[in-house]
Amino acid sequence: MSHNPILKKLLQPESISVLELILEQDVALLGRLQKKQDDGVLVRNEPLSLEDYHSCFPVLKTKIDNFLGVQDISTPQLYEHSTNTKYKYYGLGAGVMAGGVLLGLYVDHHLIPTTSLSLIPLVMGHIKHQGDDCEGTYVFGKIEINDLKRPREQILPIVGHEYVHHIQREKGLLSLLDLIIRLNSTERLMLLEGHACGVQRYLADQYAQEQDNEAFLYYNRLLDVPKLKRLYTWLCDQSGKKPLPKFEEKGFRSGLEVHAVGLGYFLVQEHDNGLSAYADWLKTGN
Ligand SMILES: [Zn+2]
Repeated sequence: MSHNPILKKLLQPESISVLELILEQDVALLGRLQKKQDDGVLVRNEPLSLEDYHSCFPVLKTKIDNFLGVQDISTPQLYEHSTNTKYKYYGLGAGVMAGGVLLGLYVDHHLIPTTSLSLIPLVMGHIKHQGDDCEGTYVFGKIEINDLKRPREQILPIVGHEYVHHIQREKGLLSLLDLIIRLNSTERLMLLEGHACGVQRYLADQYAQEQDNEAFLYYNRLLDVPKLKRLYTWLCDQSGKKPLPKFEEKGFRSGLEVHAVGLGYFLVQEHDNGLSAYADWLKTGN
């Protein structure tokens, strides 16, 4: 089986060691915070309304713009994800299928058909992921948030993730045509998602620090640790290394997902080159 450059980089023993270091910290952190959560002492603020998210978006935007060194990025529209939206995707997918039109549509958190004509996996994926850990959507300049009743500490970094896709799009890294014509689309998606997941993690850490609120870290590591464990288990398996049992995702041997690979890749880049890895990648897209 041949691997793309991202997987090749991750399969290097040095990269696997970096992932072990990160997992060591993340697993300990999550364990500590899970205990607080179970004991009911993890402080969380009240959920926000959509209007509240509109109000706090400029601050979030400034944080990410500064971090990525970008200017003149437009403000995307924020919506609450609704059942109607889901059916809208169904309708769009069916229309495109019927017309046989080659159209790549980028919807976050799902494998995007690009060279493929089929929008069915996209639509199915969209439904399937409801209730999963994938709670935001970016489509054509719009950010949609699922279930606003959830803690703001959980949602704000997810809004940040979707906003990163908006930046990627405005910087020409997420153009429709680009996604359609690229043959190597899986690699591309790994980079796009890894970049967004890495900034999401950075944002959660920033909020946690600024607001002295560990709930941001808790919800972020709740997403990241399973991803990193699955990736680590797969990498060990591929490279013939015996995984450390505490980081092994038992029973997981297949189905690597673009977010997991991308996040691992960017965390290794961050370890090697510092946090500027995210701004640097935006300049080149490679
Ligand atoms: Zn994404």
